[in-house]
Amino acid sequence: MLDYSRDRRTANSYVHRDRIGYRRIIHERIPLERIDEQDAAFYRDNQARSDHYISLQGEREAYFRDNPCTVMLFTCMDGRERDTARALGIPPGAENIYATAGNKIGDVNLVLCKEIQARIDRASAAGKRVLILFTTHESWSKRETDSCAAWGNQSRLAAEDADMQVRRFNVDYVDRDGSGRVTKRHVIAIRLNSYTDTESRVWYGTGGRTVDPMAFVQRMTDRIDNVAGYDTRAVTAEILTRFRDVFPYSDDRFEGLSEQAWEAVLRQMAGMAEANVRYIRQAAKLNPADLKHGHREKRVLVGRGWEMYDDPNEYFIVSDFTPELLREGKIAVTYVLKNSILDMIEGRPGLHVPIHINVPYDRERPGDRGGSIRHAMGLGRALRADWLERLGTPDKRMAFIIELKHALQHDGVDIEKLPLPVWDALNERLFDALKFYISVMPRDTRLLELVATGDDL
Ligand SMILES: [Zn+2]
Repeated sequence: MLDYSRDRRTANSYVHRDRIGYRRIIHERIPLERIDEQDAAFYRDNQARSDHYISLQGEREAYFRDNPCTVMLFTCMDGRERDTARALGIPPGAENIYATAGNKIGDVNLVLCKEIQARIDRASAAGKRVLILFTTHESWSKRETDSCAAWGNQSRLAAEDADMQVRRFNVDYVDRDGSGRVTKRHVIAIRLNSYTDTESRVWYGTGGRTVDPMAFVQRMTDRIDNVAGYDTRAVTAEILTRFRDVFPYSDDRFEGLSEQAWEAVLRQMAGMAEANVRYIRQAAKLNPADLKHGHREKRVLVGRGWEMYDDPNEYFIVSDFTPELLREGKIAVTYVLKNSILDMIEGRPGLHVPIHINVPYDRERPGDRGGSIRHAMGLGRALRADWLERLGTPDKRMAFIIELKHALQHDGVDIEKLPLPVWDALNERLFDALKFYISVMPRDTRLLELVATGDDL
């Protein structure tokens, strides 16, 4: 058992100052040689991601300086949604990502309310507002079979729930005078609908009217034959005009804003749509319909601070404020296990389901790191205990195997005809296939500090 009680530096840790002045600390409490090789690679790769994250500090500052709102991005835990910030041109870390199964956040979620309030306080101190982008998703080409699994592919239900949450955000986070008139607006919430296979993020305004970036992609394609020479700046004015039309100043969600402030928010939104137009064109060259077939994820990332893991289809993200962490953890593990079985059928070794739990901390706040470690350990213990119970209780185990069977059938695999080594692994070593890793990370470097594995929980 490791000692978590003090923030003691081990012999392996080191401190240095990089070229833009960040002090970086790596705590190698757990030598990477001791953990699974593929997972050790995940932590080594994190150092490059952290370097990249730090190198984008200037971009984040510019984004913050040039825009009136800070961004909270609510998405589905679905791996296809990991690149939404990138698709909107938001540098990693200039947004915060909150992911649950199908954006379900519950009627009353005190953890989430606290998080929103903290974001509002930080934004207000800097003279900003919070722009909440509540992003549902569906498949454009396979609407009935490959949209949001958490809503059983019923996009209409997902949209109704999202619209209700968006309305609530817009009503709740305002100051009002005695007559109920809005005197100050802290939050502007909008629903986006993400088409995972075309990459278009459609903005929903009043009366179900939309801004669809795809319309501008096509318009430009009509005008310019030379795709490489395509210049989105030519449509900037048109996009902004469309936003003014779909999100008029009279829209309730802008009540309490000056006309000038409304215009500034629209410009930020139009900038995102313009970045999206560019992203759609880039993605079209990569044939995203093939890339983004649903549920191909290889890892489960639980907690927060995962913004730089924005490769589409690689990771589930399950945020720690989710009302039903264990249920959502189960969905994520089921699909990663399913993908691991597909790998095994193709001859790749072993069942392998990595579950990484992380909580960020602020290095300037004394005791914050210790608190984050305790919180991360608690999440890890809850998830691990849940799986011990599920796989150790015969009827629960049977129910789980049936769900796994359905996930495999969806991919055309008959579980009764699985090769013997896969069956053996499922029967004998299913719990061992789950690898739990607990880490914390400084907010400013996003460098993962691995503090415990499943054996320590
Ligand atoms: Zn979903």
